[in-house]
Amino acid sequence: MEVPINETFAGIPSGTGSNFNSIYAQEILAEYGMNLGDFNIMHVMPSELEWNGAAAWGQKPGTVTAFRDQYADHVHIQVHEVGHNFGFGHSGFDGDGYGDHSCSMGGGQAASDDGPAMCFNGVKSFYTDW
Ligand SMILES: [Zn+2]
Repeated sequence: MEVPINETFAGIPSGTGSNFNSIYAQEILAEYGMNLGDFNIMHVMPSELEWNGAAAWGQKPGTVTAFRDQYADHVHIQVHEVGHNFGFGHSGFDGDGYGDHSCSMGGGQAASDDGPAMCFNGVKSFYTDW
């Protein structure tokens, strides 16, 4: 659903932007007897919001993710943020908070849609019961 927003986004926190989106989206859904809380939400918003250097974020745990527009089609970032929705933290190794390069919750600079192929590491996969 594309939600027209009548607010100034420049410089406001991305969390505040997603709250605006949710308010406007709920108004539209209510016209059809639906509730925003019945959906998983992926916000795609402009880069001029304040992202604190992040490409995206995911509610942990939860049903909401938010993406800077230029990263919204990056599958490895989508998987990472949905991992936060599952309740997962980052996968670190050897003092690096993103240092587990075998896991979508780590990866850091090694993560890319071009490879290496990865999902969640063994421990996180166990908790998803996959
Ligand atoms: Zn993360």
